[in-house]
Amino acid sequence: MNPILNRFLSYVTIDTQSDPNSSTTPSTEKQWNLANKLAEELKLIGLSDVTIDENAYIMATLPSNSTDASIPVIGFIAHFDTSPDFSGTNVNPQIIENYDGKDIVLNKEKNIILSPDYFDDLLQYKGQTIITTDGTTLLGADDKAGITEIVSAMEYLIHHPEIKHGTIKIGFTPDEEIGRGAHKFDVEKFGADWAYTMDGSQVGELEYENFNAASAKIVISGKSVHPGYAKGKMINAISIANEFMTLLPENEVPQKTTGSEGFFHVHHISGEIENATIELIIRDHDKSLFEKRKVRIATIKEQLNKIHGNCIHIEVKDQYFNMKEKVAPVYHIVTTAKEAMESLGITPLIKPIRGGTDGSQLSFMGLPCPNIFAGGHNFHGKYEYVPLESIESAIKVIVKICELTATKSNR
Ligand SMILES: [Zn+2]
Repeated sequence: MNPILNRFLSYVTIDTQSDPNSSTTPSTEKQWNLANKLAEELKLIGLSDVTIDENAYIMATLPSNSTDASIPVIGFIAHFDTSPDFSGTNVNPQIIENYDGKDIVLNKEKNIILSPDYFDDLLQYKGQTIITTDGTTLLGADDKAGITEIVSAMEYLIHHPEIKHGTIKIGFTPDEEIGRGAHKFDVEKFGADWAYTMDGSQVGELEYENFNAASAKIVISGKSVHPGYAKGKMINAISIANEFMTLLPENEVPQKTTGSEGFFHVHHISGEIENATIELIIRDHDKSLFEKRKVRIATIKEQLNKIHGNCIHIEVKDQYFNMKEKVAPVYHIVTTAKEAMESLGITPLIKPIRGGTDGSQLSFMGLPCPNIFAGGHNFHGKYEYVPLESIESAIKVIVKICELTATKSNR
């Protein structure tokens, strides 16, 4: 079997689902199963300084093979947990060789079909080797494709000493899918000037802009009075919650926005007369529009408090920020990745992410960190798939970035 495919399969068949309700790191004990295996494998292929800390963060070094000490130290990062949204137990990958562009039956019994009629991206991969699920689990290409690519690229560089490169750092994290991948990442220990997460989707993706993100919890206190005698006395928290929501801009919601448009997204509401709670998230790529959205929420609160008495309390929490702010001053790190792709005949697809990555947090922790494609599609569900050729392309991109970083510093 193709050794890269073999490596990928050896990772996805280990269940590493993370759990947002756990407070430990890693959030699930089972993530250690893959983490320990990875640490061993990194030693085996010949990397130096392989460490795995008490939170299962793995780091390793490929020492420079160049006499030029001025080459920047760069890093590659991927996460080994899988999404809590869908089962990762007993992943049973199906391998479709020489894909013919037709429907792929994932599960005959349950009639689960991966069809290009619905997922038209599939048609880009006619003739390639597609790895799918059996329809009962996710695949875990997010982000075990990224792990496979980084390990394979390091192995390739070890076997090809004629390719000159500086010091390369690699980092594998738990719990990215529950937003905690970067939390306990020791940027100082990692010691890279910048890094790339290998965690994007289709071939060519290169991302250095993501949302600014905040969450808001709106708590409304009401006053319950017998409905027959309530005139001028009752304060119905449910009605006020409803009023609050109708004052939000109706077209600025996830289902009506795209590209760089921001939104408010009410994702939870609960209430009775005495008490109602609205939970929402605020997203915007533009920092000043992001701040304006927070002001807008506060303004609605004040407006309603004036009418109903001081019954609304709001708690806003920033979650993460657009990494563009940190990457723009070192934009050459994006250019290098772009040049690496172009030299391999891959068209770079540079677009803002409508979400966040580990890289956005890491960028604000002092490690500028754009995101590169890992090759998979339809993450977090049973239709997840990855073409083997896309994994191979990502490996070449990593190798090329290492090479270009070394030659660029000589110019
Ligand atoms: Zn991911």
